[in-house]
Amino acid sequence: MNRRRWFQAVWALPAGLFAVGVERVRGILEHDAEGEPVLRTRQGERIRLEGDDDTMKVLRDKRLAARELEVRGAGSGRGRFRAGPFYEENVLVIEAGKGYLVTYWCDVCSIRSYTPGLCVCCYQETQLDLRPLDSPP
Ligand SMILES: [Zn+2]
Repeated sequence: MNRRRWFQAVWALPAGLFAVGVERVRGILEHDAEGEPVLRTRQGERIRLEGDDDTMKVLRDKRLAARELEVRGAGSGRGRFRAGPFYEENVLVIEAGKGYLVTYWCDVCSIRSYTPGLCVCCYQETQLDLRPLDSPP
C-alpha cells in the first residue's frame, strides 16, 4: 500500500475523528530526563506530548523510543501537542509509511492489552506488539 493509499485508509476511519480542529504531528519519539515524551519532527522541532492517562502510559513506554510516531489531537500551546482520547487510537507507530496500533501481548495467557504493564491474568510483563491498522482485532 503506497503512502497516498494509506492516508486515504486512515481518513476513512471513524468519521468523528476528523472533526474540525483535529491536527496531527509526526516525528521520532524521545523521552526527556523525567521520562516524559517529546516528539522530534523532521524539521528538528521538539514537541512535548500530552494526553489522557492511558495515552501517556503508551507514550512513556521506552520501547517506543526512537520510533516514528503519528499523534492526532490538537496543539495545546507553544511546543506542545495534546493527543485526542485514548479510545480513538490517536497514537500510531509509522513503519515504512504504514500505520500500526500499539498493543501489548501476553504469550502465556494470549491476552491483548492496550497499555504497557503487567498482564491482568498472570501478572507477567506484556510484550510490545504492533498491529497493522487494517488487521482484524
Ligand atoms: Zn498473562
